[in-house]
Amino acid sequence: MAADPLIPVPGVIQAPVSTADWNRWQWQMQNQITSVAALVSLRPDLKNHPLIQNEPMDEKTLRLAGLRMGISPWYASLIDAGRVDCPILLQGLPRQAEIQADPFIDPDPLAEELYMPVPDLTHRYPDRVLWYLHHSCAVYCRFCMRRRKVSQPAPAAADQLDSIVQYIRSQPQIQEVILSGGDPLALADSRLEKILSTLFSIPQLISIRIHTRMPVVLPMRITPELCAILRQFFPLNLVTHFNHPQELTAASHIALRCLRQAGVQLFNQSVLLKGINDSLAIQSDLARRLIASGVTPAYLHRADEIPGTAHFHTRLDLGAEIIAGLRGHLPGYAVPRYIVDLPGGGGKVPHEKTYYQGVIAPNHPMDANTPQDKTPAGFGVRRHLFENYEHRQFQIREIELRPNPDVSNNGLH
Ligand code: SF4
Repeated sequence: MAADPLIPVPGVIQAPVSTADWNRWQWQMQNQITSVAALVSLRPDLKNHPLIQNEPMDEKTLRLAGLRMGISPWYASLIDAGRVDCPILLQGLPRQAEIQADPFIDPDPLAEELYMPVPDLTHRYPDRVLWYLHHSCAVYCRFCMRRRKVSQPAPAAADQLDSIVQYIRSQPQIQEVILSGGDPLALADSRLEKILSTLFSIPQLISIRIHTRMPVVLPMRITPELCAILRQFFPLNLVTHFNHPQELTAASHIALRCLRQAGVQLFNQSVLLKGINDSLAIQSDLARRLIASGVTPAYLHRADEIPGTAHFHTRLDLGAEIIAGLRGHLPGYAVPRYIVDLPGGGGKVPHEKTYYQGVIAPNHPMDANTPQDKTPAGFGVRRHLFENYEHRQFQIREIELRPNPDVSNNGLH
């Protein structure tokens, strides 16, 4: 049974599907939209949408570029065909910008694979590990920082439960396991239950965290059966990923309430995305709606430097300015922190005084090209200096698309 009450098939959807099937998360996963043609077939009102008309991305183009498209029928039903800048469409539709010249060339700029002591487990911080449970998602978000994994049609590596548990037990400083992917809730209930009960039997762990977009892109996944499983485990934290208030539908609200009633602590992380949620008004509305659904808005992330995502990047300081604008107008617990993930495995740091040391001046020793710096014409670059929790210094490149290919690579404003 899906989230109560059953969600009727929206009138915009042109598919022979019963309400009962529409509400089955397995049906939604099995009928994932994997091409623009299939999207238009399900949503004929999108046929003349400018993003679809002006930026054709057929299956062959996607395949040659190694890109994967995936949108759950539910998420597709939320697209506003009358808006050129619909935030749902912009997050799910592959665009030409993804296959054009881009300053980002490293598919793993955060060095997650480098800090992998056993397959499918990243151990970057002393006290916690991140386990890639699954490479499948209900929606393949165009800005995804794990594009290198979720764009691969191959399933996740074979079951690593034994080797991962063995590793955690051998490292007594590990106190938290983050279940991520892909989307861990794409796994079957029985598999999730086994993993959770195994982890909760390890005495050194004080926290288990699930990272999932299911409450956003497939609220039908939050079934009473799943909530009954989660209810057995305490304390359980779940970090979801709403980027725009338009995503916080009545169905999502019900799914989140079910999770809260099952005793799950809810947090949200969002990514600052140009043209989607890069304004104070949108972030303020999002935070208010999250609070109303029982979710603490924890983090606003700077978009990571993933190939094919430069068009989503904003000015680096914009996130900090938005957070400053929220302060005083929302309860303190509802103001997220603006987080920058440092390239090369430096880890996450807030864009705050202790960690952010300012723009790197010309001729500073760190104002130098790194192996990743192959900035094509038409992009401007400004370098910022951060220090991580280990007091190591890292450079962040702020990228801006510029219409004039003759501009210099310095002095970005
Ligand atoms: S749901 Fe998460 S892991 Fe999956 S594509 Fe979206 S951002 Fe990436």
